[in-house]
Amino acid sequence: MDLKQHIRGIPDFPKPGILFYDISTLLRNADAWQVAVGRMAHAVSKAQPDILAGVESRGFLMAAPLASKLGCGFVMLRKPGKLPGNTVSYRYDLEYGSDSLHIQEDAIKPGQKVVVVDDLLATGGTLAAAVELLRAVGADVTAAAVIIEIMALQGRRKLDVPVSALVTYE
Ligand code: AMP
Repeated sequence: MDLKQHIRGIPDFPKPGILFYDISTLLRNADAWQVAVGRMAHAVSKAQPDILAGVESRGFLMAAPLASKLGCGFVMLRKPGKLPGNTVSYRYDLEYGSDSLHIQEDAIKPGQKVVVVDDLLATGGTLAAAVELLRAVGADVTAAAVIIEIMALQGRRKLDVPVSALVTYE
């Protein structure tokens, strides 16, 4: 199955000049979604994770069913102000301004193997921040996985772990 047929590119969203890759159409097609989760499970299982860490919010959509399928735990990397209890954060730069990701400080047991999951790899800033945050709480980050990779932005250069992508765009 060609998963690209289930992903739409929406021009000028959320702002002019951005081509937004919309996975809503993939999620709502039962067969395509099952194939996507199955293919990512195959790719991610090689990294032998104990935990999958999903990046808020579209990363959650893939990471949670994948963790269930692989028999792993699932941990949330969230935007500010969402997680209860003590948290650790990592700030990263965006094109304009900055953002931060947060994790509960006891989310990972020291040395647990973690694979970080998001919907899309663009510049790589988000996944690089996620990897640093996970390491800060003791994770052994063994891989990253995305549904979509935008090759021209060379985001994987920012990452020092192997990255798997289900579909790529130039
Ligand atoms: P980056 O940090 O530049 O790699 O951007 C990745 C994050 O931004 C992911 O969490 C994506 O959900 C979102 N994102 C960036 N660019 C796009 C795009 N063209 N279409 C959909 N989501 C995007």
